[in-house]
Amino acid sequence: MRKLTSFRTYGDRHADLEYIKGSTLAIVGYGSQGRAQALNLRDSGLEVIVGLPKGSKKARVARKDGFSVYSTEHAAKSGSLVSILIPDHLHRQIYRQHIAPHLSPGKTLLFACGFSIHFGLVLPPDFVDVIMVAPHAPGEVMRNLFLQGKGVPCFIAVGQDKSGHGKNKALAYAKAIGCTRAGAFETTFEHEAIGDLFGEQAVLCGGLTELLRAGFDVLVEAGLPAENAYLECVHQLDYIVNTIKSYGIAGLFERISKTAEFGSYVSGKRVITADVRRRMEKILKEIKDGKFAREWAKEHESGMRNYRKFKKEAARHPIEKASRKIRRLSS
Ligand code: NAP
Repeated sequence: MRKLTSFRTYGDRHADLEYIKGSTLAIVGYGSQGRAQALNLRDSGLEVIVGLPKGSKKARVARKDGFSVYSTEHAAKSGSLVSILIPDHLHRQIYRQHIAPHLSPGKTLLFACGFSIHFGLVLPPDFVDVIMVAPHAPGEVMRNLFLQGKGVPCFIAVGQDKSGHGKNKALAYAKAIGCTRAGAFETTFEHEAIGDLFGEQAVLCGGLTELLRAGFDVLVEAGLPAENAYLECVHQLDYIVNTIKSYGIAGLFERISKTAEFGSYVSGKRVITADVRRRMEKILKEIKDGKFAREWAKEHESGMRNYRKFKKEAARHPIEKASRKIRRLSS
């Protein structure tokens, strides 16, 4: 196994809001991240405007929250810092059509994910700073913690440093949205993009959900009632996850029964075999060489037919019926 490399970590004391104070911060998109970031930035004393497309459903919410809402073009023109908080698969088209024509020297483009810069979907001009502040939580969690005086950790990165202050701006922004309270970890657009895609595909979303469905299917095929299989393979996941988050994997093993612990040692590695690890490596390779990013762009351009098919198939799996029943009974 390779030697671990460590991140540089920054807290509140390393960040100075002066680097972005007095600038107009244009938040493009008012979804999960957009709303939370706009509110936190304003509560930190910064000047925020919101950019949304014509007819946007979120414009009413942003106005109700007290923000001036403009077209994406106007926000890109007026903002000294333009924070692109729209879904990643829309970045290419929205950036080209509505943002790029309005950029001028001295501006900063900010992303909450490394995807579109690393995979070349967005190609900023050389006269702007390009930075990343990627919070490690959905917007609602970030906003709630901010209001409690806490924060969520984030990654920061500098992709292009025209002004020489890219990192200071990223740190100032991270402080203003509350992230330096929990720690800002310095990384690169490349590492964030690759790590994020791999984590969600192979482990947290794709890998985990397939593991849950596979365990459920095996028990149901062996004759156990679906609700029983659901309770055994899925229902206690929150306890497992929260215990790992609080105490680590070794700490989890100290808190489960000896039978569960011994069984985990002898069976876990038979499920996640060397072959599974090799397939994970293949997934990582396809993420790194851009195959996945190309496939995803093609899917979007061709009307998301496969995406809808996969979604329908997943919703039809019997585990969903068992899940609804258990949720109904335990609510
Ligand atoms: P989201 O909730 O899906 O954002 C949707 C917003 O984008 C809506 O307000 C939508 O407007 C707007 N939008 C769509 N087209 C637009 C356009 N042409 N101009 C301006 N706004 C437009 O997205 P998100 O989850 O916050 O993700 C935003 C970024 O944060 C992504 O890069 C993502 O990778 C990153 N990120 C997300 C999370 C998370 O947990 N969600 C965590 C860390 C980082 P309408 O009102 O018209 O729908």
